[in-house]
Amino acid sequence: MTRIADQPADNTSDTRALVLAGARVVTPDGVWDGASVTVERGRIAEVRPAPGDPGAPEEHGAVDLSGHWLVPGFVDLHVHGGGGASFSAGTAEEALRVVATHRAHGSTTLVASTVTGALDDLAAQAGALSELVEQGDLAGLHFEGPFIAENRCGAHDPTLLRDPDPADVRKLVEAARGTARMVTLAPERPGGLDSVRLLRDLGVIAAVGHTDASYEVTRRAVDAGATVATHLFNAMPQLAHRAPGPIAALLEDERVTVELINDGTHLHPSVLALAFRSAGADRVALITDAMGAAGMGDGSYPLGPLRVEVLDGVARITDAGTPPGTGAIAGSTLTLDRAFQRSVTVDGLPVAEVSRSLSGTPARLLGVADRVGSIKAGKDADLVVLDADFELVGVVRKGEWVVRP
Ligand SMILES: [Zn+2]
Repeated sequence: MTRIADQPADNTSDTRALVLAGARVVTPDGVWDGASVTVERGRIAEVRPAPGDPGAPEEHGAVDLSGHWLVPGFVDLHVHGGGGASFSAGTAEEALRVVATHRAHGSTTLVASTVTGALDDLAAQAGALSELVEQGDLAGLHFEGPFIAENRCGAHDPTLLRDPDPADVRKLVEAARGTARMVTLAPERPGGLDSVRLLRDLGVIAAVGHTDASYEVTRRAVDAGATVATHLFNAMPQLAHRAPGPIAALLEDERVTVELINDGTHLHPSVLALAFRSAGADRVALITDAMGAAGMGDGSYPLGPLRVEVLDGVARITDAGTPPGTGAIAGSTLTLDRAFQRSVTVDGLPVAEVSRSLSGTPARLLGVADRVGSIKAGKDADLVVLDADFELVGVVRKGEWVVRP
């Protein structure tokens, strides 16, 4: 193609265009049936809606995706592990295994989540992981804990929890050397609201989660600058008719994006649908909250300093005296392609809305929507191919096949 010849040679990518033709393409302007997407030098060069126009892509050896969906690569805001590896290990080797596992399931952009640990350990993990952010393998870091509520700590080690003292919050953010994107905290703990304000001023997302906050305290946290609900419904007081708690405060406020884990275990389909209808796809970010067992089978896995047993795909904390299958749910074994499939085929949500919640909404929240999160000319060519049953069959990241259909 003539446009290519005008550009300088590039030894990192094929200079020929990749053309993906015939799919139902989910674009910001709607679903385009039979559209073609041209990829050049890692970017989307063109999205052409109508088939059969002169110079149609078939002439250039297009990949025929008839009968398939083409959706933007997924953006996971909250993930701890996968492929038997964990970000908490604090090594590049394990972190890259997590990244590769989720990338093969369509998550082309990933924020690495740590779990509660000693501050010095978390600072060391952040230092190691920040290099992978600088390299472009990760989109940032998320500290989940240690500033969370003891009675809502879920799979976090209760002996290592602490108040969100702004000095400690600042220490962790600084250890990440500009790569911290989000901190989950319980705003009712001493220092909670001051820490939310600090994070807002530092340009880091303050997320309310693993919290025992009331409706009123949660509203104050949002007024102070909190913009995310960490896995809404899970690890917080439930919605009650005279005590609406954090769920109502987070769900009703247009400044807040709510994370939801749609793995069939964390949320009843009716609750997922309620949240989706209430907040809308532009305020819902579907996440995995996955731990090491994602992309693996049942078995025993570490989660930070704790151990987790996975039985029938459900991860639970095990400790002495806990009968199998009864411990606290400890993250998920979800991948975002499964979340997509489930949201459409089980929950009956519209494909375009599910896609927004998996890509556009989290990308905007992270401030990277100029590069990723939608299928549009000029964006990175991060694309997922799904078959008619919404099974993942292909993944492209920055124009390179990760999974080839
Ligand atoms: Zn988590």
